[in-house]
Amino acid sequence: MAQFSPAFLDEVLARTDLAEIIGRHVELKRSGSNLMGLCPFHHEKSPSFSVSPDKQLYYCFGCGKGGGAFQFLMEHDGYAFPEAVEYLAEKAGIEVPRQAASDPGETERRNRAFELLLKVADLFARQLAGEKGVVAREYLNHRKLPEKIIRDYKLGYAPAGYGFLQHCFGSDARTSAQLESIGVLFKGDHGYVDRFRNRLMFPIRDRRGKTVGFGGRILGDEKSAKYLNSPETPFFHKSDLLYGLAEHREEIRRRRLLLVVEGYMDVLALAAHGLPIGLAPLGTAIGERQILEILRLHDGPVFCFDGDRAGRQAAWRALERMLPVLKAEHSPRFLYLPEGEDPDSLVGKEGSEAFSKRIEREARPVMETWLQGLRNIAGQGRDGDARMAKKADTMLKSMTDHFLADAWRNEASQKTGVPITQKFIKSDAGTVRLKADRMSAEEKFVAGLLQNPARFSALTDEDSRVFLDTNPVNGIYTRAFFIIQNSRKGEISSAELMKKLADSATDDPNLALWSNAPDIEDEVFSNLLATVRANVIRRRLKGGIGLQEAVELKRRLNELDGQRRGNE
Ligand SMILES: [Zn+2]
Repeated sequence: MAQFSPAFLDEVLARTDLAEIIGRHVELKRSGSNLMGLCPFHHEKSPSFSVSPDKQLYYCFGCGKGGGAFQFLMEHDGYAFPEAVEYLAEKAGIEVPRQAASDPGETERRNRAFELLLKVADLFARQLAGEKGVVAREYLNHRKLPEKIIRDYKLGYAPAGYGFLQHCFGSDARTSAQLESIGVLFKGDHGYVDRFRNRLMFPIRDRRGKTVGFGGRILGDEKSAKYLNSPETPFFHKSDLLYGLAEHREEIRRRRLLLVVEGYMDVLALAAHGLPIGLAPLGTAIGERQILEILRLHDGPVFCFDGDRAGRQAAWRALERMLPVLKAEHSPRFLYLPEGEDPDSLVGKEGSEAFSKRIEREARPVMETWLQGLRNIAGQGRDGDARMAKKADTMLKSMTDHFLADAWRNEASQKTGVPITQKFIKSDAGTVRLKADRMSAEEKFVAGLLQNPARFSALTDEDSRVFLDTNPVNGIYTRAFFIIQNSRKGEISSAELMKKLADSATDDPNLALWSNAPDIEDEVFSNLLATVRANVIRRRLKGGIGLQEAVELKRRLNELDGQRRGNE
């Protein structure tokens, strides 16, 4: 990945207006010193998305997303970090230093890869329409997929045989290596060969709509795997992608309806029947990151599964993966289809209206699905109750929303007649202290803020620049800042703050560490503040600044050094 100097990143952020960047997607209204709007990351009816023009930070009280301009472009528009930096630098009229990138060809290579993937997708699409595509077209006909869907989702056909892509693109070593790097060729014993042969091709796009890889369904020869995906590449991470996301995001938001289905054909069949609201994992069981993405897009998604044994097992796996990211605000539902049916076959048989009614009638809340699943595993009787309570307790421990966990715990206790009490997880004080010793001044500074939130009031707008938008610590700092600002008169206890942070950040290991860090005394804290301020100034001194400003910054630096010594 390209490396930009911190000074350069500072300059880009300083010349960027976050409110303007966000304002292009979200209608923002002034509220006190902040701007508020409807969160673009999750569905909501009343605004909980806050932007601070002074601090150049955003934060959503609903889903916990927060950060600065780089973060917004990455999370909302799917930019890679170097792309976000280059985009904003260009917008601000700042030249991206050539030597700034340790690997200056990175972005170029990436763009070339995307171009090539698009060309390959075009080529497959032309094959589908052409002479060789007749079997594939028959298959699509048989599945009743309309021409428009085939075009819109750019389905294609990879011909049988081993030399198709090299025949089209040339077989020189450089081209072959490029085709290998995007996952469509691989090196066999006798040189490069096509990965996808005699397959119906589904281009897979990332959040931004860029084609990043393929899924291919075998036609005819059933000895090969039915579905084959592109291998992992720098831009194709199976566990991060959802089929249909770029195409259906806006409709899902508009209709407030999201169906999670199993396969590409389910997604397409629903779209063909006027329900462009389906998303599917890429042929594997759905993972935590995909579930998180789904819950951010819509708080009440419906997960569809086949009603048979395998379908119920898949539903249970999805439920287990969901627990760590599930919040009280979410209300996912589970729908079991009649045995042997999938959304594709069912919506074809009964039409979209009946299918939509079926969802309303038969989808069950996640907690109900959980209790039912527990009972199935544990069995009936007194022993069954005990087993059920035990399993429930284990699963509750993986939940991070304590309110939700409490509600579920009560329900499971009632159902089994076995009281399931909350057990506190013991923290290993020794390990914590060891890690705390290795914390940077910036990390200790944030730990000090969290221990005594009143310390936030002493910070200046400029202190929000302590962290660059890319620093992992910035996430917690941003969330804490907005939570405190939103609390009554800015008064909030450390425990309350920690609780709220834990609710909004599901995956931040720093939080656990800092909540257990040794107490940071006032005097130590003011030293830390001076240190982090000095670090910011040092960073700026390394950037391209004028002589006068440099002199002023050096004066400030001396002042801060003096302050620290005075305190020691
Ligand atoms: Zn949100």
